[in-house]
Amino acid sequence: MGEPLLARVIPLLDHRQFAERQQAHSHAQSLPTGEVRDRLQRPLRDLRISVTDRCNFRCAYCMPKAVFGSDHRYLPHSSLLSFEEITRVARQFVALGVRKIRLTGGEPLLRKNLEELLVLLAELRTSDGNAIDLTMTTNGSLLARKARALKAAGLNRVTVSLDALDDHVFKRMNDVDFPVAKVLEGIEAAQAAGITNIKVNMVVKRCVNDQQILPMARFFQGTGVALRFIEFMDVGSTNGWNMDAVLPSEEVVRTLSKHMPLMRLLASAAGETAQRWGYVGSDGQHAPALGEIGVISSVTQAFCGDCNRARLSTEGRLFTCLFAGQGVDLRRILRNMTTRDDEQLASAIASVWQGRSDRYSQQRSCVAERSSMPKPEMSYIGG
Ligand code: SAM
Ligand code: SF4
Ligand code: SF4
Repeated sequence: MGEPLLARVIPLLDHRQFAERQQAHSHAQSLPTGEVRDRLQRPLRDLRISVTDRCNFRCAYCMPKAVFGSDHRYLPHSSLLSFEEITRVARQFVALGVRKIRLTGGEPLLRKNLEELLVLLAELRTSDGNAIDLTMTTNGSLLARKARALKAAGLNRVTVSLDALDDHVFKRMNDVDFPVAKVLEGIEAAQAAGITNIKVNMVVKRCVNDQQILPMARFFQGTGVALRFIEFMDVGSTNGWNMDAVLPSEEVVRTLSKHMPLMRLLASAAGETAQRWGYVGSDGQHAPALGEIGVISSVTQAFCGDCNRARLSTEGRLFTCLFAGQGVDLRRILRNMTTRDDEQLASAIASVWQGRSDRYSQQRSCVAERSSMPKPEMSYIGG
């Protein structure tokens, strides 16, 4: 093992720091419910919950085998938030403005009985009485088996990660010899089960899978599945990131446009990470039947200005940025609470959000030089 285990490198915010943060913002957060805004006036809308740090893939950009080898020790089950704990926390987030919850990981479908969590989360309501937008990001390996149960539990949307159509390239990327066909089977099963909103995420690495951009776009055009190209990010500290391996989204759009005319579409929601491009039909207009693609330019065109996402790690730590060095331990609050009153939890979340000023991607070059704090891994805080 080249690096220490992740669980050991993420520093816990100690009591004093947390008290200081609470004190600093107590004037602004007297109400434990109601919408909160951070220091840059960004609302809290989107919560990503990592339900497990386990994964059956070893994508080099996320959990490289050299670091996450067969001797890697995952978190013990007792460290994980239970479904009831996740739901209690999520309820407070919803009261503070969250409208969308994404289950992620690690590989979320490895968490046993995940459907039970979906049922609980699907019951949450926003202050105006609406159901939350519930979704999941998965590598698709277990989707064929689970799609019907997930749909029955309340899942209407899913994002499946698939980095290539070519088996050789895909197997090299997942590094566990997993075939493309099984992921495609999962996507078909999700469609057949009635999950209507399906997206595919493709992380693009220069000279690794960039030759797959066009085949992937051709394959998914007109299928109702929106393909999204993601720039390889410097998240975590184990994936050997360097700028040379980043293929800017601009290049993706330029490459595709030569073969498949595209036009820019409006964002469908504030804070949306993907820039949308629609396929143009013979009349020169966007042809909805052909569908659209998205590009997520986290490196070359940072979108921190609208970032409304919070992340809850597998062990219940709250991270306000994908690149935050430390998370606030909500599990300690959850498990120490003497009453069933959730006000303390809501106050803690509100306080953390109101103190937030993260904009790592916009500051990338100077922050990277400045920060000595280890960055959390994507599999731990959830992508
Ligand atoms: N295991 C699930 C999956 O792969 O879909 C969910 C967790 S994964 C961490 C969530 C998303 O993050 C995936 O779409 C994955 O491709 C993306 N991802 C992971 N590491 C990345 C990196 N270094 N740069 C860009 N995207 C990354
Ligand atoms: Fe696993 Fe997803 Fe990370 Fe790949 S990107 S190693 S599938 S958690
Ligand atoms: Fe949000 Fe942090 Fe990503 Fe910026 S770098 S978009 S603040 S998660």
